[in-house]
Amino acid sequence: MSNYDVIILGGGPGGYNAAIRAGQLGLKAACVEGRATLGGTCLNVGCMPSKALLHASELYEAAKGSEFAHLGINVSPTLDLAQMMKQKNESVAGLTKGIEFLFRKNKVDWIKGWGHIDGPGKVTVTGEDGTQVELSAKDIIIATGSEPTPLPGVDIDNRRILDSTGALSLGEVPRHLVVIGAGVIGLELGSVWRRLGAQVTVVEYLDRICPGADGETAKTLQRALAKQGIEFKLSTKVTRAESSQKDVQLQVEPASGGEAQTLDADYVLVAIGRRPYTQGLGLENVRLETDKRGMLANQRHRTEAPGVWVIGDVTSGPMLAHKAEDEAMACLEQIVGKAGQVNYDLIPSVIYTRPELASVGRTEEQLKAEGRAYKVGKFPFTANSRAKINHETEGFAKVLADEHTDEILGVHLVGPSVSEMIGEYCVAMEFGASAEDIALICHPHPTRSEALRQAAMNVEGMATQI
Ligand code: FAD
Ligand code: NAD
Repeated sequence: MSNYDVIILGGGPGGYNAAIRAGQLGLKAACVEGRATLGGTCLNVGCMPSKALLHASELYEAAKGSEFAHLGINVSPTLDLAQMMKQKNESVAGLTKGIEFLFRKNKVDWIKGWGHIDGPGKVTVTGEDGTQVELSAKDIIIATGSEPTPLPGVDIDNRRILDSTGALSLGEVPRHLVVIGAGVIGLELGSVWRRLGAQVTVVEYLDRICPGADGETAKTLQRALAKQGIEFKLSTKVTRAESSQKDVQLQVEPASGGEAQTLDADYVLVAIGRRPYTQGLGLENVRLETDKRGMLANQRHRTEAPGVWVIGDVTSGPMLAHKAEDEAMACLEQIVGKAGQVNYDLIPSVIYTRPELASVGRTEEQLKAEGRAYKVGKFPFTANSRAKINHETEGFAKVLADEHTDEILGVHLVGPSVSEMIGEYCVAMEFGASAEDIALICHPHPTRSEALRQAAMNVEGMATQI
């Protein structure tokens, strides 16, 4: 039996960051990962491959449509889907290898195989060929992530009915892709395939897209995506799917009941959320149970079992890579007796469509529900000189500040490159900034970031550039 200070189950952003931090802190760490490569959902079948396709498809559309021609660049691009997928796979391989390098650098052992908890401090790992290795440690961190939530009646086969992993590696452009769920995956991957030539219909159970996002920003994003050609069927439920070799017949009807309709698609993407993954983990051997949603509860990353910790998608909070990473750092700090902490009020979220949606902090809906008095400062990208010159004027920046103290409570952006700019407000809010603080800080001209400052100025009606 090999003995470690800490065993980490799962090699995604939660697990690999925990393992690297453990190594940095001088702990003897083992990271158990059953997948053939490190990096978890994020690197292999999530954040990174989706962003690779979003980037490539955005450039393809710009070149193929009127955008390049308007700039005076005349080209006649053709799509080489196999090459687009190849470069995506090569980038992913580079990134997963990068984690292996970081493991070696920080003296972390990657134990290849699926981990099973046998009891307090005890784990058995079963490799691909069935060989078993026994490990022991004082602390075990569960970082086993999540998997797509299935939809009864719409069985994912990854031939015609896909989950996100299937939709990231299609060998042809769909004629008609029906996406079930107008959340992050549905909008990002729906955008990819629309840009590459597919007709895309998004079916959403609720009467809005992106539940949880600020309502005004979600509406603006929906309008922009509809203008690009994505059809939205809101307040609609899917009751059944029948797939053949060539297509899928999808039965839909109004969520509140009514006349059914059949949608004919050659591919269907099921993107109705993800659920925690703890299959075959042996939780019962440390007397742990999941809740109804399959989630493992935590108190500052500790489970109820002594010496067993939990981080990332498998526990509460948003299912985001940077949240898993933050928890990894905080969990390790706590294991070595330091004061690691995650500020769950300030975890940014981004939808990488075009325009992008980025936000941090409270939405208007949340502030109203809390009865908190707030002021709004907004600034449209139509009035931002850099956005104008680049012909990227859709969207706005919105800053919500406390009515009395001016403290920034929430920031909601729809527009160009807002994913890269939301960090400014994460820093400001972490330091308890007021809208006036941002309003008084010089921003470089001409940049889109000026819109963020102007929105802060507009909390007191002081924007100078409209
Ligand atoms: P995971 O990344 O799921 O890693 C868990 C790992 O544990 C897996 O590799 C699994 O094989 C392994 N494992 C499970 N059980 C065992 C076991 N018993 N033994 C050994 N290994 C085990 N988030 C963002 O922040 N930004 C994005 O842009 C973004 N895009 C996404 C796009 C898509 C299509 C998807 C599906 C997700 C996206 N996410 C994004 C979410 C992000 O991928 C997850 O939040 C993140 O990967 C969670 O990290 P984790 O370490 O908790 O779990
Ligand atoms: P999601 O929770 O973002 O969206 C799911 C959508 O499906 C919601 O709008 C929901 O109302 C709808 N829905 C649920 N059941 C339905 C049904 N039966 N019929 C029709 N619609 C239904 O989930 P997702 O898009 O699958 O993404 C999963 C997770 O992955 C998210 O938690 C997200 O945080 C993460 N992710 C993040 C990014 C990013 O950060 N850019 C990208 C992709 C995925």
